[in-house]
Amino acid sequence: MLPLRLARHGSPLPPAPMAAAAYELLVLGGGSGGLAGARRAAELGARVALVEPRRLGGTCVSWGPGDPCGVMWNAAVHAELIHDHPDYGFETSGVRFNWRTIKEKRDAYVRRLNEIYENNLNKAHIDIIHGYGKFTADPEPTIEVNGKKYTAPHILIATGGFPSVPPDSEVPGASLGITSDGFFELEELPRRSVIVGAGYIAVEIAGILSTLGSKSSLLIRRDKVLRTFDSLVSTNCTQELENTGVDVWKHSRVHAVTKCPSGLLEVTVMSSAPGHKPVMEVIRDVDCLLWAVGREPNSKDLCLDRVGVEVDARGHVVVDKFQNTSRKGVYAVGDVCGRALLTPVAIAAGRKLAHRLFGGQRDAHLDYSNIPTVVFSHPPIGTVGLTEDEAISTHGKDNVKIYTTSFTPLYHAVTQRKVKCVMKLVCAGKEEKVVGLHMQGLGCDEMLQGFAVAIKMGATKADFDNTVAIHPTSAEELVTMR
Ligand SMILES: Cc1cc2nc3c(=O)[nH]c(=O)nc-3n(C[C@H](O)[C@H](O)[C@H](O)COP(=O)(O)OP(=O)(O)OC[C@H]3O[C@@H](n4cnc5c(N)ncnc54)[C@H](O)[C@@H]3O)c2cc1C
Repeated sequence: MLPLRLARHGSPLPPAPMAAAAYELLVLGGGSGGLAGARRAAELGARVALVEPRRLGGTCVSWGPGDPCGVMWNAAVHAELIHDHPDYGFETSGVRFNWRTIKEKRDAYVRRLNEIYENNLNKAHIDIIHGYGKFTADPEPTIEVNGKKYTAPHILIATGGFPSVPPDSEVPGASLGITSDGFFELEELPRRSVIVGAGYIAVEIAGILSTLGSKSSLLIRRDKVLRTFDSLVSTNCTQELENTGVDVWKHSRVHAVTKCPSGLLEVTVMSSAPGHKPVMEVIRDVDCLLWAVGREPNSKDLCLDRVGVEVDARGHVVVDKFQNTSRKGVYAVGDVCGRALLTPVAIAAGRKLAHRLFGGQRDAHLDYSNIPTVVFSHPPIGTVGLTEDEAISTHGKDNVKIYTTSFTPLYHAVTQRKVKCVMKLVCAGKEEKVVGLHMQGLGCDEMLQGFAVAIKMGATKADFDNTVAIHPTSAEELVTMR
């Protein structure tokens, strides 16, 4: 017997019908945003179907952060700490790293997660429709998957994005490289890697490869990585990449890529620092060229024009603060909207939307301010709120006060390897409300979440100072800055 499902007003619903038009919510995309929105809507009593062509979980679980990238970062952290073992009295001769071991374990974990997602949808009585969905030209918004039509009064677009690669017409041989998706398919640790890009994905992957022992070059177009971050973090992170052995090529771009008979690549790089003549150099014997030069929204093949859903110049779906698109009854969340491309953002927006549509919370929407972000660099970065420059342009230079500190964490007191920790508090107004916090150092990844709560609640510098420090930690610096 099928279990009875309760409608949101408490009365039992009939079993999910097979008829295509009998859903209340159709979700396009089984990634972070789509899954979260679908499950929450089903919990609130809606009849939901979810369309997904690939494994459930999306970028975060299958090709991205939360899981595969996080596992690789942990492997890289082990590699770093091994350098300190002798200083802490451990003998570590003969330690070897086996890429295949961690890849197999990581892939098995990801497969388990994919299954868990499928089970969760089944338990929630959400129908899974396998295939690519696209809008039809019918008068009411309708989705076609493998030649079959489905419709619902509410349709959620949560199709995410994909990594960009320059076309071969622009950079000859560019397609010989891989992207972050291909990184998770590598069977061996590359011996010689070239990573192109200055964003957080480039920084994370360059750090992982280099720390695990691949000779790595990072090609960036300007002089710093993470240029949209606070200058303290951007400058420090560029320096730390160099300290950990990543060869950072500044003011550089790939001119051409060729494949040698050996199968290895030759990457011709054009470097043109301001005030200097452009220089062309070749990086040889490259077995991994990885493009991390941005992501594009998965919107082109959805036929959005047929339903009048507006997109911006880059193809991102335009939404208002309630995730409404320009077509009534059609919504979008997550990376496809191009704002704060993060797993928890997609999840939170999907859940809020479900509460608004099916939970009676008419004003439910995600507040996109003060979203905490961690970059899993070496050491990790934690950042929330306004950068110093943003605070100055919002509040005026005279109304902004900056507190900074730079120190060597206690962990490094006895190690030959020294990695400093840097922190900045951005405060605004007479009451010195903390409007930004930026830091890079050991433990900053785990340190951020609690401070983000305080900042979201409107804490002032005095509130920070009135909190008794925890000694001996790096976090205590945040409540003792002068
Ligand atoms: C290398 C890397 C590292 C990252 N690190 C972090 C991190 O540390 N922290 C963090 O918070 N975020 C991180 N992110 C970002 C995070 O993965 C995304 O923000 C998040 O996955 C977005 O969720 P989404 O639901 O919008 O899209 P996705 O998770 O990408 O899901 C979209 C889904 O839609 C499906 N789809 C596409 N087209 C169609 C169609 N026509 N019909 C039906 N389904 C379709 C896709 O197959 C996919 O499953 C990282 C991303 C990458 C690539």
